[in-house]
Amino acid sequence: MNYEAVIGLEVHAQLLTKSKIFCGCSAHFGQQPNSATCPVCLGLPGALPVLNKRAVDFALKMILAVGGRVGKQSVFARKNYFYPDLPKGYQISQYDKPIGVGGAISFIDGGIAKSINLTRIHLEEDAGKSLHPENASQGYTRVDVNRCGTPLIEIVSEPDIRTPHEAFLYLHALKQIVEYLGICDGNMEEGSLRCDANVSIRPIGETTLGTKTEVKNLNSIRGVERAITYEIGRQIAVVSSGGKVVQQTLLYNDADGKCYPMRSKEESHDYRYFPDPDLVTLCIDDFWIAEVAASQPELPIARRERFVSNYGIPAYDAEVLTTTLQLADYFEAVVEHCGDAKLASNWIMTEVLARLKDQQIDISEFAITPTRLGELIGKIKAKAITGKIAKDLFELMLSDSRDLDVIISEKGLAPVTDSGDLKKLIDKIIADHPDEVARYREGKTKLFAFFVGQLMKATQGKADPETAGALLKARLDE
Ligand SMILES: [Zn+2]
Repeated sequence: MNYEAVIGLEVHAQLLTKSKIFCGCSAHFGQQPNSATCPVCLGLPGALPVLNKRAVDFALKMILAVGGRVGKQSVFARKNYFYPDLPKGYQISQYDKPIGVGGAISFIDGGIAKSINLTRIHLEEDAGKSLHPENASQGYTRVDVNRCGTPLIEIVSEPDIRTPHEAFLYLHALKQIVEYLGICDGNMEEGSLRCDANVSIRPIGETTLGTKTEVKNLNSIRGVERAITYEIGRQIAVVSSGGKVVQQTLLYNDADGKCYPMRSKEESHDYRYFPDPDLVTLCIDDFWIAEVAASQPELPIARRERFVSNYGIPAYDAEVLTTTLQLADYFEAVVEHCGDAKLASNWIMTEVLARLKDQQIDISEFAITPTRLGELIGKIKAKAITGKIAKDLFELMLSDSRDLDVIISEKGLAPVTDSGDLKKLIDKIIADHPDEVARYREGKTKLFAFFVGQLMKATQGKADPETAGALLKARLDE
């Protein structure tokens, strides 16, 4: 029997607000453990939460970006459960009246445009962190409650995803959107973007849903793809051998690529949700929505389309150049300085991206600023350096931040354009290669490339190709 997978993703995105969602404590990552706390986020009796408006703005940005509907009246609810790193004994979340409903995330899968519908987007607070020792004999589990009360949005997709690769593309697109909006840094390794996957299988053609499992502990986009692939295979093996899939929560271990049972899956009624009596209904009017809409930045898809239409670069280049907001900004800054989008794109797509990969760094850490790369490209355009020399110069610029003209003159990289100098070199080449000259003159014109090569060798690649070519041709055709 052939099976298909039914996958839904729940993504938690940590919002980049300065303070926490219900108190004034800093939400900054990496502070001294248990230092960024107050009675509210510690859950001390009598402390009252006050909603952070910025967190609401950020949630609205996301809802508008994915074409969702804003819940004009949304309600915060208490989700009750016990965890050592949740001192309140409940998490403030949203339940039946979330701030956002519907919307979709689109991406291109092998040339085909796909769109995954969203169920909801809601606001909630994060719990703290338990720091477990490497193994039980090494000490105690310690609790850091700094993260308690950090604002999150949870983005829940419909079970519309059918393959692990679609899940990968969906997450990639979602990550791009939150980064472009500037509401989350998208860092899965540090946990500011977290994903849980609900996975089930069913025979192809079947419309009812099979029993699902929830896979947690997915800390990279590739990891999500691998974990889902594993879980689909496991479920098919269980069902094919006559067994039944058990509803449970699984922990994915990226080291061995397997999922391990963590607990039987709880139902929402286990959490005893009820409206938080300390928080009033969140009412969002049209004016507030319009204000957020007016401040929306250009989103990844729009920017890709603009790169193609405004700069005339291929769709593939536009796709690569808009992968991250920083790279897209870098590209536009280079174009601004050199005025040639195609050359800028070529340089970034090849030389720059190769260096980033080698050095395993981000474009923001790259040694050559867009202004300098623009200047370099400008010099190629103005024929102040040859393409070959430009590559050498690029190499030097990685560790030399001095003025380009200084490096060019110090290293003797200026092109040889002086026809007198070039003519002397050409005469010598012709004298040194009488056989080739004779064959060329008998009609073997392909040998022209040989003479160009010789001339480039004699000038260490610095002969200006146009001048040199013209002079060489004139001399050979004499
Ligand atoms: Zn606090």
